[in-house]
Amino acid sequence: MYEPAWKFPTTALEAAEILREAAGRATPIAGGTDLTARLRSGDERPEVLVDLAGIEEFGGVDLTPDPDAVGQMTMGALNTHGALARDDLVRQHVPLLAEACATVGSPQIRSRGTVGGNVANASPAADAAVALLALDAAVRVVSADDCEGDRAGLPLEGFFTGPGETVLRDDELIADISFDCPAESARSLYLKAGQRKALAIAIVSVAALYEPEAGLVRIALGSVAPTAVRARDAENLFESEWPAGDCEAVIDAVAARAVGSASCIDDVRASGRYRRILIETLTRSALRRLCLDLEEDG
Ligand SMILES: Cc1cc2nc3c(=O)[nH]c(=O)nc-3n(C[C@H](O)[C@H](O)[C@H](O)COP(=O)(O)OP(=O)(O)OC[C@H]3O[C@@H](n4cnc5c(N)ncnc54)[C@H](O)[C@@H]3O)c2cc1C
Repeated sequence: MYEPAWKFPTTALEAAEILREAAGRATPIAGGTDLTARLRSGDERPEVLVDLAGIEEFGGVDLTPDPDAVGQMTMGALNTHGALARDDLVRQHVPLLAEACATVGSPQIRSRGTVGGNVANASPAADAAVALLALDAAVRVVSADDCEGDRAGLPLEGFFTGPGETVLRDDELIADISFDCPAESARSLYLKAGQRKALAIAIVSVAALYEPEAGLVRIALGSVAPTAVRARDAENLFESEWPAGDCEAVIDAVAARAVGSASCIDDVRASGRYRRILIETLTRSALRRLCLDLEEDG
């Protein structure tokens, strides 16, 4: 019978030293919602499980004020989806992240699953990770050699290298994730198409952010490629064309362009063709709500 040893560090340094000494034979565990399934199936059998739950410095949500901007938001890796969906700072400044976290699994999964686990697990369908990608988030990584976190600002774009794969080494931990809060005038939302309303992994998800004063959008897509991706060509098209005479035509063109950032596959949840249709439909819907409704309101 498989019986790993459990370690319960209370500081980042202690956890990182356990990982370094184990040299690949230990795995961190946070909420366990992803990892437990792999332990049960035998896909992973680490000798040691390093439970991160007691590391206080991996908690909290902070907003560092900036006199010229809204400020930088930092969230510890151990924040659960449920906590982020309810957090006042998150709901006020980055509603797309609160919305993305609120779509994860079920109340039970949201109360266990953490944002650090969502990012480290590197599923292309990871809801919080897709929202964070649209926010230009960066990951602070710590290790026993570098507990100040010199790998502090690893951009999330580039962090994922394939399904379930990241640039993290065996001896490294995600401490927290941060990003510059969008301007006060910004609007954002998260749209997710699944096979049902609850407990649904995304068939396609779109995180979109519109900054009217800068005249730009950011669009991130989930479940459409081996990793979550930014639709950079579509963003650039928006920036060069908006606001043109026919705003709806610009939005249609941007939505069509977003499909080019995907490399959709057929799988148990949907065909690649259906996914491509969904990318265009959801992106158009998101941009209409963010850009046109705002013009009408304002
Ligand atoms: C029934 C069910 C439904 C789900 N539905 C959704 C959904 O709708 N959307 C969605 O996005 N996800 C969903 N998930 C996946 C899962 O809940 C999330 O990915 C969750 O955020 C993972 O966090 P965790 O704390 O449970 O990670 P764990 O399972 O503890 O760990 C996952 C991986 O990350 C590593 N890890 C964890 N924390 C750190 C850290 N701080 N530093 C370095 N490595 C770390 C672990 O070693 C492991 O490899 C679902 C899971 C289940 C079981």
